[in-house]
Amino acid sequence: MQTLRASKCGLSTALLPASILDVIDALTKAGYVAYIVGGGVRDLMLGQNPKDFDAVTNATPLQIKEVFGRRCRIIGRRFELAHVYSGRELIEVATFRAPPKKEVTSSAGMILRDNNWGTIEQDFIRRDFSINTLYYQPRKDIILDFCNAVDDVQSKTLRLLGDPQTRFEEDPVRMLRALRFAAKLNFSIDKNILKVFTPELTHLLSDVSPHRLYDESQKLFTSGHLNRVLPMLIQFDVWKQLFAEAKPKITLFIERVAKNTDQRISIGKTINPAFFYAVLLWEIFLERCNFYLSKGVVPAEARAQAGLDVLKRQATRTIIPRFAETFIREVWEMQTRLLNPKPQQIEALSGHARFRAGFDFLLLREKSGDETTMGMGAWWDAYQLMSVDEKERVIGQYNRQRTRSRRQTQSVDVSEVKTPHQQTEIEPLVNEPEPRSRRTRKVKPHLDERVLEKGTSQSGEIHADHPILKRKRVKRDLTQVIFGPTQ
Ligand code: ATP
Ligand code: MG
Repeated sequence: MQTLRASKCGLSTALLPASILDVIDALTKAGYVAYIVGGGVRDLMLGQNPKDFDAVTNATPLQIKEVFGRRCRIIGRRFELAHVYSGRELIEVATFRAPPKKEVTSSAGMILRDNNWGTIEQDFIRRDFSINTLYYQPRKDIILDFCNAVDDVQSKTLRLLGDPQTRFEEDPVRMLRALRFAAKLNFSIDKNILKVFTPELTHLLSDVSPHRLYDESQKLFTSGHLNRVLPMLIQFDVWKQLFAEAKPKITLFIERVAKNTDQRISIGKTINPAFFYAVLLWEIFLERCNFYLSKGVVPAEARAQAGLDVLKRQATRTIIPRFAETFIREVWEMQTRLLNPKPQQIEALSGHARFRAGFDFLLLREKSGDETTMGMGAWWDAYQLMSVDEKERVIGQYNRQRTRSRRQTQSVDVSEVKTPHQQTEIEPLVNEPEPRSRRTRKVKPHLDERVLEKGTSQSGEIHADHPILKRKRVKRDLTQVIFGPTQ
């Protein structure tokens, strides 16, 4: 074990939030030893902004509770620890752990209970990667390094303590952590890990509780390097373990959203991990919708049932909390509403609680080349920036187009309109205000003159195979309807 001067490693109390210092000081004052450990120390050393700071102490959870009183809650069963509130922040305080006793591991070697208190040396051994084992005492300005972890930080190497196969078997989630850290820190993965990181081992993730996998998936989504980690999930055969039905394929849409998510995080904007779930499961949701439609189920019911099905299957891997599931289904439902709004509902729709997420989703689909959005992403983008008068004008315009198109679809065979090479467009929305008096005089070219090939449309245009144009009353065949839990 080496004791290093923290200031020589680039650490100082000035870099720490008051909350973690408060926790370390209170425990020290009560006669315990306490250190900052894990990602906080690692990230500070790398010059990165730590997501949070974790503390570790020789006080047991009950003793921690005695020190902090009502500011402290003991959580976890498999892995008991204390949550201490300091100001508005929450600090995780763990107790030094000894290796788990034999009888609390599963037949596959997975640790089922890990609440055997021990010494700092024992605690170090059971941590995962060397770079996560640096113990920092800020008031003493020291770092305890038990395994030359500082060298691994400097050489940017992700190394597991102990035998990688055993460590992954003990806790398969470490495989996800390995990919997350490698992507986030841009570290190379030690060859001993790579040797055992095989589909046989990733398969063990299916034994991990779907709740824990959801938490880990959230950490992946919010790592700030989603775009880098996604290909790794496929490469290491982890994708299938996390996402029940979504094919291991990074579509242009997924890639665009991943980049967008990383960008938002880099500029300090919040992100909703459920949004990324909505993106990942979008294609499979559409496939499921088509399945129900092909069975003659009316569209609204097909969508509702498909949403339920897809999320239910996903829950076998990661349990998405109810509020997040509702969010995902609303974002999907918003796609239909935004694509085919009733004119009189347009303004209300733009003020809907789920509008922003639904619109972002639509625009990202469109920007990644999804032509089925019919340019409505750009339409809504423009709409939101318009004055009241402009809005009124474009809604009127949209309404007239809608009525005209409906009349045409009544006389035209729908299959004709749908052929890819014969698409007609409705004029785009424009930002410039137009005098009201000119509204009625505007001459629009005949539909035939505006036939476009698929893919040639500018954003802001609506095509003739827009749902508005081909909407037909579907006669419900109740014998075919598959009723879901909502009915
Ligand atoms: P970050 O908070 O940036 O995601 P972290 O390394 O701090 O990364 P946490 O999940 O906060 O990760 O865990 C804190 C510390 O607890 C880790 O640094 C590691 O030492 C230890 N740890 C966490 N999860 C495991 C695990 N599954 N196996 C072994 N040790 C773990
Ligand atoms: Mg942490």
